[in-house]
Amino acid sequence: MADKNGKHGNASSILPDRATRGIGLEELVHVFWVSGMSCDGCSIAFAGASNPSMEQLQWGTVPGVPKMVLHHPMFSEDAGDDFIEPYRQAAAGTLGAPYIVVLEGSVPDDESFPTADGFFSSMGAGGFGPTPGGDQPNRVTEWLYRLAPGAIASIAIGTCATWGGIPAAAGNITGSMSLMDYLGKDYRSTAGVPVINVPGCAPVGDNFSETVITLLLWLRGVGYPPVFDELGRPAWMFDQTVHRHCPKAGYYEEGVFADEPGDNQCLVEIGCWGPVVQCNIVERGAQNHMGGCMAAGGACIGCTMPGFPDKYAPFYKAPPGSAISGGISKVYGGAIRRLRRMSMKTGNREPLWDNAEEIPSPWAAAKGPRTNTDKFAAYFYKKLQYNGSTHHGKRYKKQPLPKSRDILTQMGVDHSQSVDVLREKARSREEI
Ligand code: SF4
Repeated sequence: MADKNGKHGNASSILPDRATRGIGLEELVHVFWVSGMSCDGCSIAFAGASNPSMEQLQWGTVPGVPKMVLHHPMFSEDAGDDFIEPYRQAAAGTLGAPYIVVLEGSVPDDESFPTADGFFSSMGAGGFGPTPGGDQPNRVTEWLYRLAPGAIASIAIGTCATWGGIPAAAGNITGSMSLMDYLGKDYRSTAGVPVINVPGCAPVGDNFSETVITLLLWLRGVGYPPVFDELGRPAWMFDQTVHRHCPKAGYYEEGVFADEPGDNQCLVEIGCWGPVVQCNIVERGAQNHMGGCMAAGGACIGCTMPGFPDKYAPFYKAPPGSAISGGISKVYGGAIRRLRRMSMKTGNREPLWDNAEEIPSPWAAAKGPRTNTDKFAAYFYKKLQYNGSTHHGKRYKKQPLPKSRDILTQMGVDHSQSVDVLREKARSREEI
């Protein structure tokens, strides 16, 4: 987490000191996508990644990054045995190429079944022997403990895979857990890396694709070691709160709060947990740098956090702490807001308009000279503003007004006349 001033610290890393070389990453890397207790939202998020995109990774067009051979239950062209065979080879240690395991969805507690044929989620069938047979589905849990030890990295995408998420909420009978919980604290990939967590429900697709390329560049020895925080999240993505970068943070500071989702103002009173949630969706956007919860008018419900959903429920109810912070903000924010509006009012006038004591625009609400209150406030504001410095506006206060100011009026032009008539008048003026 960044320090109290929002600055990045030197996060301690448990990654190996040096990048792992000679693990065959020059050409390509296989990615085995496994779906546990999932809604497939993470797959959709990855498909929407833009920087880099899923296609760029598969085409191998990101400089320095090996081409990604994606094995995915939805996106792969192969089906049936052709689709499953590479998974089998990886699980058996016969793939002959480096691979990454990606888990989407949480890991159900299949061990709680009284017999080995019970399962909550599965992929393929026929067991894991050299000659698969039968139609008994293969548990996802078994794929994971066979694939993860031989992977150069295991990445949990989305909050279900990173922390358990919705399937692990109170009352769920599946006993679901995160990939980290399932593999245990001693798990390390062949490159010495613990489970990497890219949370979010659904996650930002670019957070995932960027994590993949950062990791691969480092593993190839051409990039810096990625910095992960104490929960295995890419630190540079998750060390700030949503609130710090929220487009509505200015409203919070001025104590102006929304009544309904979709309102422009800060959403804290209708259940936004942004001030205590680590996520980068507002500055990165949900997809292709657009959207994102608060940018789209939705309150943050803490979906990137390990405590989600139980510690953020009931949704759309003001967090307990917001009564204090929001109340304080209303008091001091209300005063600050009024002072800022006064400064803004002054800043919305050209110095020339102040000298002339009028505004030429037909738009302006204030057309005439400044009120005595405005002048009084401006006087003291400028005293502070130019304290210890030169106030050029004061020095040149007697500057004459430009002669060509308000030229049409000077020419006696009737503004309702046609453009042709105005041009004719201008020509005849030139001829004089
Ligand atoms: Fe903070 Fe949420 Fe308000 Fe944004 S909407 S300023 S994240 S409390």
